[in-house]
Amino acid sequence: MTDIGLNHIAGQWVEGGGGTIAVTDPATGEVVAQQALADAADVDRAVAAARACHGSGVLTDMRPLDRGRLVQRMADVFRANADEIATLLTREQGKPLWEARGEVENAAKYFEYFGNQASTVEGKSIPLGAGYLDFTLMEPYGVSAQIIPWNFPLEIAARSIACGIATGNACVVKSSEMTPLSSSWFAKAGEAVGLPVGALNVLSGYGHEAGAALAGHDDVDMIVFTGSVATGRTIATAAAQSIIPCVLELGGKSAAVVHPDADLDAFLASVRKGIFTNAGQVCSAMSRVIVHEDVHDDVADRIVALARSISVGPGLERTAFGPNMGPMVSEVQRDRAVRMVAEAEAAGATVASGGRPLNRPGAFMEPTVLTGVTPDMEIAREEVFGPVVSVMRWRDEDEAIRIANGTGYGLVAGVFTRDLDRAARAAGRLRAGQVFVNEWFAGGVETPFGGYGKSGYGREKGREALWNYVQTKNVAIRV
Ligand code: NAD
Repeated sequence: MTDIGLNHIAGQWVEGGGGTIAVTDPATGEVVAQQALADAADVDRAVAAARACHGSGVLTDMRPLDRGRLVQRMADVFRANADEIATLLTREQGKPLWEARGEVENAAKYFEYFGNQASTVEGKSIPLGAGYLDFTLMEPYGVSAQIIPWNFPLEIAARSIACGIATGNACVVKSSEMTPLSSSWFAKAGEAVGLPVGALNVLSGYGHEAGAALAGHDDVDMIVFTGSVATGRTIATAAAQSIIPCVLELGGKSAAVVHPDADLDAFLASVRKGIFTNAGQVCSAMSRVIVHEDVHDDVADRIVALARSISVGPGLERTAFGPNMGPMVSEVQRDRAVRMVAEAEAAGATVASGGRPLNRPGAFMEPTVLTGVTPDMEIAREEVFGPVVSVMRWRDEDEAIRIANGTGYGLVAGVFTRDLDRAARAAGRLRAGQVFVNEWFAGGVETPFGGYGKSGYGREKGREALWNYVQTKNVAIRV
């Protein structure tokens, strides 16, 4: 056995035709492992294995309760190996170990939740009067392709795999070439619980090679993609060529609207997790804070103090709880964020805290607060995908909502106020797939999640997600 991360195709661990890549630790630049990459021929083999699995009926003939139990048991494998998986994730992606453990646990929760839902995917009977029996069947599409980004590689893949298999689809998963190592645990878990051969194929490879081959494959029946808007557009175009549905979970530029009556301590706790979790590389990050002018200066000062209190360091550092924030995934991503901050400053924003790389090796960036940001600036409109929060001000509620809704994105939004009437009114007016009131990242595996506007379409998480993976067949019987 070579010391190299492998692809899992048709029940076999194999290298691939796409060469290898050195997976590096963004905290140190050290090589963690080599990963074998899939090419288009490997994608063909994986899709063929998934098709054979689906065609054999082994998944669809199984009672959904039993299929769901297999999915649920994958949660046990993740929990039993949480330390090893979390350490791999921290090493290849950078997030602090305590965050990585949280991600492993969330992946397990998706297996638990969707495994538990397998037998609830029901059709209905339709009354047509005497002489007819009419009902609907909810049938899996067949072969589900799942293309995964590097920022939450476990959570994002887990929810698609869990839904896909629970509903009776065979899956081909392509992880990001930057985070392939922790993702190999999906294949290990599938083997451990006895998934049928071909039910779950896990590949890594470049987007332009394995990703494009999968998205454009003739024999794929539906695509689930999470990633950038630009790639989402390419994938939707490929799906349109094949006339297959796709689910797109794309970027965001999410805003928290802060009212003068907000509980500011609770709000600050939300800022901490909203923008500094995963070094801000979160599609639903609180990247904009829009504050009523009466409390604007106080809130801005408190956010600056919070940013300065964040400890930044390697995710595996063994302090009592580890660092508050790790490196970004790569120096390329870090340099892009630093450049966007410098451009914002040139456009008139004030760098109230941070804004620079950390003075040490690794892809570290200072927790950054920008004030004096106006809605027309690029920093207020485009995703940074880093630990950078833009603070803006509002005078009346209409203006706050207009700013919050003004980017074209619409993944999540938040309102902070003690007045629930005001919160409910804002929740109705904010153009986003999920609105948080008084706590950022409230909700969980059970709550539907997905974008309005440029943030994509379709819903992951919650029962809504299941409907992406099944199509309705009507059976009309003359009796
Ligand atoms: P990305 O779009 O560059 O890559 C995502 C995945 O797509 C990777 O596996 C990549 O290899 C693959 N890919 C790239 N080009 C492809 C192509 N032409 N055809 C097929 N596949 C291709 O995104 P990223 O840099 O990995 O992730 C960051 C982005 O993802 C951010 O914009 C972020 O907001 C978004 N994101 C969204 C969500 C969400 O749920 N809405 C969650 C996480 C990340």
